[in-house]
Amino acid sequence: MAVDVVVVGGGPVGLLLAAELRLAGVGAVVLEKRPDINPHSRAFRLQPRTLEILDARGLLDRFRKDNLMWPSAHFAGIKPLLNLAGLESEHPYSLLIPQARTERLIEAHARELGAEIRRGHEVVDLRQDDDTVTVQVREGDTEYELRADFLVGCDGGGSTVRKLAGIEFPGTGGSVAALLGDVTIVEPEKLPSGVPGTMRTANGLLMAVALEAPTTRVLTTEFGREHADRTAPVTLDELRESILRVTGQEVRLRDPQWLSRFTDATRLAEKYRSGRILLAGDAAHVHFPIGAQGLNLGLQDAMNLGWKLAAEVNGWAPKGLLDTYARERQPVARAVLRETQAQLALMNPDERINPLRELFGQLLALDAVNLFLSRLVSGTDVRYAFDPADEADPLVGGYAPAIAIRTADGRGRVAELLRSGRGVLLVLGDLLEASALQGGWARRVEVVTADPVDKPEVKALLLRPDGHVVWAAPLDAVQEETRTGLRQALTTWFGAPDEDGRG
Ligand SMILES: Cc1cc2nc3c(=O)[nH]c(=O)nc-3n(C[C@H](O)[C@H](O)[C@H](O)COP(=O)(O)OP(=O)(O)OC[C@H]3O[C@@H](n4cnc5c(N)ncnc54)[C@H](O)[C@@H]3O)c2cc1C
Repeated sequence: MAVDVVVVGGGPVGLLLAAELRLAGVGAVVLEKRPDINPHSRAFRLQPRTLEILDARGLLDRFRKDNLMWPSAHFAGIKPLLNLAGLESEHPYSLLIPQARTERLIEAHARELGAEIRRGHEVVDLRQDDDTVTVQVREGDTEYELRADFLVGCDGGGSTVRKLAGIEFPGTGGSVAALLGDVTIVEPEKLPSGVPGTMRTANGLLMAVALEAPTTRVLTTEFGREHADRTAPVTLDELRESILRVTGQEVRLRDPQWLSRFTDATRLAEKYRSGRILLAGDAAHVHFPIGAQGLNLGLQDAMNLGWKLAAEVNGWAPKGLLDTYARERQPVARAVLRETQAQLALMNPDERINPLRELFGQLLALDAVNLFLSRLVSGTDVRYAFDPADEADPLVGGYAPAIAIRTADGRGRVAELLRSGRGVLLVLGDLLEASALQGGWARRVEVVTADPVDKPEVKALLLRPDGHVVWAAPLDAVQEETRTGLRQALTTWFGAPDEDGRG
């Protein structure tokens, strides 16, 4: 059997990647070892950049339905909170949504687009040559082989694909022992003040958040302590003892729905690609889950990779396009790793950290600092260095700006132009004739002429399918130069024009 792309791991990242591949007409088979979606949610928050990409694919309403929007975030639990409402984003808030629901919604989207999702199928081995990758898959008592043009490991932090591909995962091991329990607290009135919420004591951290009644998510983090066995099941007693050590309070717990352990191991794959094998999501990077970023980072990896891999399979990818995936995404992951380490260091219970927290509190009260950190944790600061000389328009490299527009067919926002997963040349007014494109890219890039509603600073924008701006012409651009720059950008990102003139 042969398929275009095998995606190993049907977590959120693998599912979104499969959907993106299908959107571009590429065959995608997801192999997931679990029989069903994990009902226990690790993540509970989607960040503004993720909301922007969901909006771009027309999915945001499904995600927002029945889930809370919160215009804040925190940095190391220090007050004042981050004010996301100040972001230059159409979605300046976090969406509070359990990961299991996120996964169900992405899976439904991937299936609607025709992705094949095989649950209960575990990848146990793989090999590659110049032309194909072959995986060995275990399904119950039987095994089979599957061949593909490419394979993407979206199989989480312990990634089998990463190990089998021989990709190193350097970084630091755990220096804290964290426990998670979705439990019923027998006498909640015995909880120390400050809980529910996050509490930093001289011995560690306790976080408690109400889930569906009567369940509460309790998280403890103890510094300078290691789990004796990272894979050993957690018991209620173990969690109770940890709460006692952190808070000095004996808290009775019952009805555990889910108990788990984790650490602050922080690692980044040395490369995201080995031949025909790529990595995305936690398979490529792990860090302490502070600030709600791992899932968001991974979904944004999938959005970056999907169209590039599809272009490769569809045969029109310009040389080197696929390698821009790692070039763009590895630095973004590196920045998140550094920032989560910084947040955890600020949460260290050592009292010598207190002055630093106080100082940080003063800094957070400054609008500029608050905005800087809001951009950082929300992912809206991500800007790719397309032009190392940095001579391009300031919009180039960043995400599509939220310009209000009016198209003949009634579209009013840039996000609505990205639904099809193709590139978009947005022409505001009459700077460029749409015919400039008819020489070859029309199938890969949609030309949209629109009237600007407000006064825009640009007259034309070329967007990649993942929403990033690769070319922009300012209002005063000279027409001939504009055309040359546009053709260059089209060739760089969308390949040579088709000779039949239809793209
Ligand atoms: C306590 C906690 C709270 C968190 N909160 C947040 C948050 O609020 N926001 C946020 O953004 N992130 C958060 N995260 C991180 C987030 O949960 C992960 O980053 C996210 O799940 C990564 O998605 P993924 O698809 O890359 O990997 P995973 O979700 O781990 O999915 C990998 C999938 O691959 C499958 N698999 C593994 N090996 C194989 C194999 N050999 N064959 C087939 N299938 C395989 C697994 O069964 C799994 O379904 C949190 C994490 C923790 C621990």
